[in-house]
Amino acid sequence: MSNAPQSAFAIAEQLESRLSQATRGLIINGKSVPALSGKTFPTENPATGKVICQVAEGGAADVDAAVKAARAALENPAWRDMSAVDRSKILNRLADLIEAEADELAVLECIDNGKPATLTKVVEIEGSIKTFRYFAGWPTKFGGETLPVSPRSGAKILNYTVREPVGVCALIVPWNYPMSMAAWKVAPALAAGCTVILKPAEQTPLTALRLAELALEAGVPAGVFNVVTGFGEAGAALVDHPGVDKVAFTGSTEVGKAIVRAATGNLKKVSLELGGKSPQIVLPDADLDAAAASIAAGIFFNQGQTCTAGSRLYAHASIHDELLARIADHASRLTIGNGLDPAITFGPLVSQEQWDRVSSYVQIGKDEGAEVMIGGNRPSGLNEGFFFEPTIMKNAGRNMRIVQEEIFGPVLSALSWTDTADLVAQANDSDFGLSAGIWTNDVRQAHRLAGAVKAGTVWVNCFNLVDNATPFGGFKQSGWGREHGRNAMEMYSEVKSIWINLS
Ligand code: NAD
Repeated sequence: MSNAPQSAFAIAEQLESRLSQATRGLIINGKSVPALSGKTFPTENPATGKVICQVAEGGAADVDAAVKAARAALENPAWRDMSAVDRSKILNRLADLIEAEADELAVLECIDNGKPATLTKVVEIEGSIKTFRYFAGWPTKFGGETLPVSPRSGAKILNYTVREPVGVCALIVPWNYPMSMAAWKVAPALAAGCTVILKPAEQTPLTALRLAELALEAGVPAGVFNVVTGFGEAGAALVDHPGVDKVAFTGSTEVGKAIVRAATGNLKKVSLELGGKSPQIVLPDADLDAAAASIAAGIFFNQGQTCTAGSRLYAHASIHDELLARIADHASRLTIGNGLDPAITFGPLVSQEQWDRVSSYVQIGKDEGAEVMIGGNRPSGLNEGFFFEPTIMKNAGRNMRIVQEEIFGPVLSALSWTDTADLVAQANDSDFGLSAGIWTNDVRQAHRLAGAVKAGTVWVNCFNLVDNATPFGGFKQSGWGREHGRNAMEMYSEVKSIWINLS
């Protein structure tokens, strides 16, 4: 028998044949179970539009069962009293199991979401492995402090703080990076000792279910990691449930606002990673080759379905035309098609709904007076699936909807500028504040602009670098709180101050 790695097409065929035989159940209290209503929904392959399998459609009753399981697991000594070293071991074991299954997971994500399997393997699967390994390091290092208090009575007091898990966490994630978004939340929540109910997006439930199965295999006790698949109603039932202590949400700003309103019942802790409309700012002295390559990747990677996508380009008038030509050249070299083919670098959008949304924004841009420089349509020859061309809209204006609103597709809106003060005003003229890119070789300008833009992350002469060690999140309507690093551990824990009278 040959030891040659199987092609992604062969892996996909086996996965599809296996998955089509049975409905994928919810994962509650360590078991795969059907929805109590018996309802299911189909998940489809965006490259072909064909149904992969049926998935259990969780509702309020299933959410209630999952919350009860998570609450019981929180109090179960097997989890509550587990040593920091053992919790760390489990997270590392989970990373090992993901690693052992990396090729299959990359293909599973590719057929469910559409993104090319080779890129998925690096960004989502290897990214998730790194996330679990990084947070596996925290349980043994995350603790409180001893603090020098000065009581008026002069009493001798020992004051110290401890960190306790925040409790039962509802983790609600979108479809654009399904595995990574789940890992970014599950890893710190488990590292902090919480129990979780993960609610994947209805478009992409498959890797979340597999992740929970691998977590059980890694030794996570039953009930600690539950998954409720389904639609927005299942997410809303979680946000509404009095047994949930915290909601961590990644998704649209609109749903984020609904979550804040709905979480007031028991004043759940809420963290939000929401939309973006990130500016790419290019100064006249920038390295145009590097900028063009990175700006093209920054908007076209993952078909533009990235919260940090650099979707507003502010190019200095002196280099504007040259830069756009080079970005267009990079776009023309993307290979579009079914992401199971390793030569493909640009897959379909996630759904017909998303295709319609992106297409309608191109029309809105045209109606507003912008010009389609490249793209704007379905690529010729790709008649099935949800493919949309990499698109550049030039002559965009400050108040146009294609400059103000998140399109969440491969559409770059290009503007030019001459005055730096006006540039900063335009870059900050947005409801969002997730990230920004700055391209210049002038170190003073780089620092000045990095200070002036209102964004949670600023990249200078680079773009879209993300690391578990450094905070990630948004200013303004791009969210509340920061994921990654110590910030994430703090989000999933409560701090308790303890006073001991030693007098
Ligand atoms: P979405 O808001 O429509 O859905 C996200 C999740 O919320 C899904 O699981 C959905 O079922 C659930 N949901 C829907 N209605 C709900 C409700 N009322 N209560 C609770 N849950 C509900 O977003 P989407 O279309 O899946 O994802 C795209 C959005 O996600 C974009 O706006 C993008 O910018 C954002 N996003 C942000 C980040 C970030 O880190 N800032 C990362 C990725 C994606």
